Amino acid sequence: MSFGKDPKLALAGGSFRQTVNSFGKDLVTRGPKGKMPYFVDQYQPSIGFADTIRLIAGNYSQMHAIGEGDAVEAIELPAFYITFTEHYLAATKKSCICSAGPFANIKGKRAPCRGCDIFWETAVRDPGTNRLDSNVISRQDKYAVSVLDYGPYHKIEQFDAKTGMVKMNNKTNEPSFNWVKCQGQGCDACRAGKELKHGNMSHWPMSYTHNQVLLAAELNIGRSCVTCKSVDQNNVSPIRSLCWTCRNCGSVAIDMSTSTMKLDEIYKATDRPHLCADCGEKSLLEEQIVCVECEKLGQKGKRAGLFDVDLRVQSFDVPGQKGKQLQVSGWSPPRPVDPNFAAIAIPVDLPARYAPDSWEYQISRFGAPNPNAQGRAPVTGAAPATQQFSHYANNTPKV
Ligand SMILES: [Zn+2]
Ligand SMILES: [Zn+2]
Ligand SMILES: [Zn+2]
Ligand SMILES: [Zn+2]
Repeated sequence: MSFGKDPKLALAGGSFRQTVNSFGKDLVTRGPKGKMPYFVDQYQPSIGFADTIRLIAGNYSQMHAIGEGDAVEAIELPAFYITFTEHYLAATKKSCICSAGPFANIKGKRAPCRGCDIFWETAVRDPGTNRLDSNVISRQDKYAVSVLDYGPYHKIEQFDAKTGMVKMNNKTNEPSFNWVKCQGQGCDACRAGKELKHGNMSHWPMSYTHNQVLLAAELNIGRSCVTCKSVDQNNVSPIRSLCWTCRNCGSVAIDMSTSTMKLDEIYKATDRPHLCADCGEKSLLEEQIVCVECEKLGQKGKRAGLFDVDLRVQSFDVPGQKGKQLQVSGWSPPRPVDPNFAAIAIPVDLPARYAPDSWEYQISRFGAPNPNAQGRAPVTGAAPATQQFSHYANNTPKV
């Protein structure tokens, strides 16, 4: 099955939900050895009170595998955010960013990745889901987006964990600082009179589950209009969906006036590429809408998305559950970034921050391959953890 004349167009132009659900992951560049871990300076939603934040759309592009079987190819697709795959090795409590590239799931085609090697060596098929999974190392698809937190941040000196002394910046010979979120009530940095600023640009890595929370919010945010700023009132949205059309030939695939599909069925049908019966192209369907308020003014309405509003988000613990839950507790009407913060609302260089970790760096975190393992070249000069994973050699699945 062909993915169309220009595969770029196939997935381009979709909403956040459409594009997130359509392509999973995959970078192909290799990161430098021992770069700063991606999670340094990351944004984390506050616990116990809601932050007001703004997701900032970047102009990113990543390589993705498109097509099936022998026809699979890697193409560069544009996006407002990035996706990456994280490996977490429970035994060493260390993580790395996957370097297997767009063909990570294709044996013999994937780029070298120590994390993936351990994953495939230890993966077993779950009889229930029929999926291969490893309980030794994870292979988790994640998302990262640039984010502006409108809240207060303190300038805090960095301390060296070994010496307990303030870290110095070698270049400037001045103390190194981090901007750390003010904790509000009882904040130690407030009591210590630490310098305060409002607004901090950062990056927000998130799990699939947290991403789903944002996508659920986007469905409701989409009940308002970017052009005229009208919002949904008493459950009546100014936005009316007319139909979903083929991006290539404009042929109507779903006509809302005659379709009997429920809303969730429409979401399902529209967040995967659709094979057009008229022109044979496979692409994300394009929604045709009308905003009733804009229509009165003779202008063209536009459904709002996640990047068009300020969001109120927080995280919380659920007893007995691992990890924090994300809650979106509200959002503003569609509007530009607060002008007082516009100067700092610049997308972060996410592809650099989340670049795949090098083989050498992964070895230093996960250990080197067992030289006796079948089909694997011995690695010289390996990190001390070399022998730690020797038992994997006995457990090589056929994948
Ligand atoms: Zn990997
Ligand atoms: Zn404070
Ligand atoms: Zn409108
Ligand atoms: Zn078509």
